[in-house]
Amino acid sequence: MQVKILGSAAGGAFPQWNCACKNCRAVRAGTFHGKPRTQTQLAVTEDCLSWFLLGASPDLRAQIEATPELHPRQKRDSPIAGIALANADLDHVLGLLLLRELQPLRIYATASVRRILRDDNSMFRMMQRIPNQTVWTEFCAGEEFHLCNAREQDSGISCKAWSLASHFPAYVTADRQAQLAPNEASMGFIVQSSAGSRLAYMPAVPQSDDALVEHLDTCDVLLFDGTFWSDDELIRVRGSGQSARQMGHIPVKDTLKRLAGVRRPRKIFLHINNTNPMLDEASPQYRQVRGAGWEVAEDGWQFDL
Ligand SMILES: [Zn+2]
Repeated sequence: MQVKILGSAAGGAFPQWNCACKNCRAVRAGTFHGKPRTQTQLAVTEDCLSWFLLGASPDLRAQIEATPELHPRQKRDSPIAGIALANADLDHVLGLLLLRELQPLRIYATASVRRILRDDNSMFRMMQRIPNQTVWTEFCAGEEFHLCNAREQDSGISCKAWSLASHFPAYVTADRQAQLAPNEASMGFIVQSSAGSRLAYMPAVPQSDDALVEHLDTCDVLLFDGTFWSDDELIRVRGSGQSARQMGHIPVKDTLKRLAGVRRPRKIFLHINNTNPMLDEASPQYRQVRGAGWEVAEDGWQFDL
């Protein structure tokens, strides 16, 4: 299985359009010790012909152009065969609307996420203009499903959904939220190759119970929530607002302790917010992360599993 990190930043990317924090200012000034990043996006393949996206970021068009493997081979024939959605957050689903060009696609989502997108947001009807333009397949928390293209050809890659959080996005009405299953709100994926190697994709983790930590130690690569360094990071930049934990993210400095005993996988932080000091490779926080055996994901990284 080949894995590509097309984007590694949290929502808003780095730099973020309305942000003049220390990091965003320095990257615009060209004085930053580190790299700009697009919003988190993963692509996986087993045969290097059919690719599956984990999420569909608002930066997807530029991310596809930056990745020759994802360029169309013939007149209208993208190698992108399907998308697995972990949640209904805008920075995870807006890219779907960029894929509306009548290319057959399979979209995997929980029933709750499908209802939010297809039933409540009429723009997504652009993906249902002709029969089988997109084939939606539902999965449940805890379920393992095989990634198949719209014609049901199996890629050899399987995905297991791990329920991580019960909060739906703020744009979902209270009436709709009351009809949805909380354990379908936000998932992590354990992606497994046909050879049995495993990748954990967990970009938004509000807490890590012992069962999750134990499971992570069975994986080969861990892509884990690196959104915020500290719990009050965004409050200090904005002057008010929610803590990292209230927004559904364990701060990195706590994860370093909590997952210190997870030794098997290569450990990589992704979904990094532009305010996070570990983006600066000259910072003590970056040194601490590297010293603890973790890496900080960058756009364009790829690995074989
Ligand atoms: Zn910023």
